[in-house]
Amino acid sequence: MTDKLIRLSKSCIGEAEKQAVSGVLAREYLGMGSEVEQFENALSKFFGRPTVCVVNGTAALHLSLQACDVGAGDEVLVQSLTYIASFQAITATGATPIACEVDDRTLTIDLIDAQNKLSPRTKAIMPMHYAGNPGPLSKTYKFANKNKLRVIEDAAHSFGTIYHDRLVGSFGDIACFSFDGIKNITSGEGGVVVTDDPHITQAVSDARLLGVERDTENRYAGDRSWDFDVVQQGWRYHMSNIMASIGSVQLKKFEHFKKSRQELAQYYDSLLSGYVNVSESDYAQVVPHIYVIRIAPGQRDRIRTELLKNGIQTGIHYKPNHLLSKYSSNQDCSTLIRTENIYDSIITLPLHPDLTLQQVDFICTKLKELL
Ligand SMILES: *Cc1c(COP(=O)(O)O)cnc(C)c1O
Repeated sequence: MTDKLIRLSKSCIGEAEKQAVSGVLAREYLGMGSEVEQFENALSKFFGRPTVCVVNGTAALHLSLQACDVGAGDEVLVQSLTYIASFQAITATGATPIACEVDDRTLTIDLIDAQNKLSPRTKAIMPMHYAGNPGPLSKTYKFANKNKLRVIEDAAHSFGTIYHDRLVGSFGDIACFSFDGIKNITSGEGGVVVTDDPHITQAVSDARLLGVERDTENRYAGDRSWDFDVVQQGWRYHMSNIMASIGSVQLKKFEHFKKSRQELAQYYDSLLSGYVNVSESDYAQVVPHIYVIRIAPGQRDRIRTELLKNGIQTGIHYKPNHLLSKYSSNQDCSTLIRTENIYDSIITLPLHPDLTLQQVDFICTKLKELL
């Protein structure tokens, strides 16, 4: 065992973030105020669309679904191979997640399976841009438009990705991003809803502050709402100034993070293609959040154990949600065989901007010895 662990993922924080946080602490206004407004303004400029910051990516998904009137009795199409956050955000509204297969190449939602699982209760589809790649997103939108579904993109993996010459989040219905500690940029914890729909922007903006109408506008003016109305279920999902101050610095560093993630993934591809099944992502467009390879079934656990003995941490993204007790009961598991086979063969290798090309060399050498 080498003494220094190569981490699967990590936050990349410098002096500028520390100073920004110190500034907020010194001003003693920690809640939601001018730093959040500034971060939102910077994000709106980045995406070319209104943005609403919230406490995490899960909250962004939950509030977006709620703003689309998704609730009890409704169904939402979602790939089973996603983070548990996608499923929990759906059930938080009272709606039912309908677990779908993924496309074997891109690991994004399989639209043929989604088509088969449409019902009169289907209200929305939640495509997840696996490892940063949105898959055939324009087909997803065609499918949604034809069937009158809202699209809530779980874009947590794809901050900065370009799809057909446009930034993910800058077009389409609603896109939700996460700024948790290991995402393409972080605000400690955090998330954002990006949409052109003014009804959604207002509904999410109010719902993040317990449903208090227009409280955001008052807080940004340095005030609070003391006499107000509430018309919808709200939550304590707002972002704090501490978080936003980190996020603003990270957004300025994004070009650097993007370049290093893309370079590392390209380097992995160059060393591994021909040995293992690598993603077909074009890293001139995709900004990868994770780097996932596929190996022969049944080998995953042995290889992960051996890599860890060499100080290489790996992951599995993800255990399919239809295999979890909470979600297994309303599914016909036999229809998700492809997802289960993929689950057996995926390993996530280390990827973060502080990883070096030499470390990638080392990881790939060790991995090839184990195949
Ligand atoms: C990180 C992530 C989320 C949720 O974001 P949090 O900020 O952790 O709540 C949702 N979906 C996917 C696919 C994610 O990776």
